Amino acid sequence: MTATVTKTDTDFFGHPKALVICFLTEMWERFSYYGMRALLIFYLTQHFLFSDQVAAGIFGSYISLVYITPVLGGIIADRYLGASKAVVLGALLLVAGHLGMALEGTQAVERLGTNGTEVIRDPFYLQVFYFSLGLIIVGVGFLKGNISTLVGSLYDREDPRRDGAYTLFYMGINLGSFLGAIICGFLLQYKGFSWGFGAAGIGMLAGLLVFLKGRHLFGDAGLPKEPEALKRKTVSGLSREWAIYAASLFAVVVCWQLMQSPEIVGGLLGISLLLAVGAVVFYSLTQCEPIDRDRMLVCLFLMSYQVIFWSLFEQTASSLSLMTDRNVDRVLFGFEIPAAAFQSINAFFIITLAPLFNFLWIALARRGWEPSTPAKFALSLIQLGLGFLLLVYGASLATDPTQVAVIWIVLLYLLHTTGELCISPVGLSMTSRLSVPGVVGMMMGCWFLASAAGNYVSGTIAAMTGSDTVGGEIVDPAAALQTYMDVYQTAGLYSIAAGLLALVIVPIIKHYMHDA
Ligand code: GLN
Repeated sequence: MTATVTKTDTDFFGHPKALVICFLTEMWERFSYYGMRALLIFYLTQHFLFSDQVAAGIFGSYISLVYITPVLGGIIADRYLGASKAVVLGALLLVAGHLGMALEGTQAVERLGTNGTEVIRDPFYLQVFYFSLGLIIVGVGFLKGNISTLVGSLYDREDPRRDGAYTLFYMGINLGSFLGAIICGFLLQYKGFSWGFGAAGIGMLAGLLVFLKGRHLFGDAGLPKEPEALKRKTVSGLSREWAIYAASLFAVVVCWQLMQSPEIVGGLLGISLLLAVGAVVFYSLTQCEPIDRDRMLVCLFLMSYQVIFWSLFEQTASSLSLMTDRNVDRVLFGFEIPAAAFQSINAFFIITLAPLFNFLWIALARRGWEPSTPAKFALSLIQLGLGFLLLVYGASLATDPTQVAVIWIVLLYLLHTTGELCISPVGLSMTSRLSVPGVVGMMMGCWFLASAAGNYVSGTIAAMTGSDTVGGEIVDPAAALQTYMDVYQTAGLYSIAAGLLALVIVPIIKHYMHDA
């Protein structure tokens, strides 16, 4: 017998107890995701000795593929598995993937060959690395969107606690991200890559155990829509459920190969976007009442803002990380902070500022001044751009042309975080609110697909900031810093311009939201 969620249960800060399970599972999943990701660019450039440009391409493909797969994960959960089984499957793949990353092998070496310098990499461990990324990509696809959908499923459509629930959930995400970047970053500095990646795997194992222990709390919300259909035999002789598991392993193999052809990922992303947009538009026009139709289409349109947002925001783990390593004075009180650990600053600000933002929105709402969802999205783009411009200004003040004072990078992260708080948790809540219930998993997948597009573009932008290196070390630090600043200044100005344009069209969008 499974429990049924009582939508009035208020055991956790006035929220249902099952929210704790979402909070902790996602906290550990993000611990592993961000912990591993904090090391990834260094693994590529310093362990495998890929050039900045090649590393940015692989990195960009990875961080976009992880957000392409949630669409499929969402559709499979909506139609067949139910969110709960999908989350367990995702978590298992993730544990395997992160532990696989811990198999490091020997470091690549640079040698003078007949055609100039060549890099010798251990082919076996290189394949282990790509395969592990494949496991993680499919794992995130099953877990991320579905755990986010489970949060919304704990509330009735009009329940005012929904935004607050997503804010709490978002704090769980960032608690995981904060701890992941710090712990894995320090383990990298003092023990090496295997330890950092291994810690990410153990964190994910904790997430799996938490979810297995608490999954009964979701009741019907997490169960398959038609449990009988799952047992039905397919042409392969396997039940539909096992056929899905086998197809997931096949998807891992596909992603393993895709990681070795980053140039294909862009095309795949384009096709996924076209199919997803086509599916949502078709569904909205043919299956929805007029008000739901407008809301679904507005939701889809607003998702597109994320492409701009993440393409610049996600410089954090790529170009901003390399810049921090090369051009930021990181010694504080005689102690050098690892560059990877800087990736935890954003999460730290989220954890500290999210309650403040929640309070601010409520206080403004009481006076009828709370910005609407599209206005918050526009503000997020403006803050993102201002963050880059502040860093560029800070770099122009430096007396040493190779170094920027640490405060400017902290200020950039502060503005990027306030921007993120205006788009990311707001968007999760929006998606679960504006979507028609039967397709909310798919819509959540589309939300992450827009992130995927942003992440992909972020790889292209990061590649533009690349400079010449020898043995993983930068050749001309002053010129490298100048290149970073030129790209960031352009990025900042474009983002502000897009934000201003988005502000102008707020009234039109609000009209089609029909007060949702
Ligand atoms: N930082 C958030 C998370 O990891 C947002 C991710 C995204 O949508 N790109 O969940």
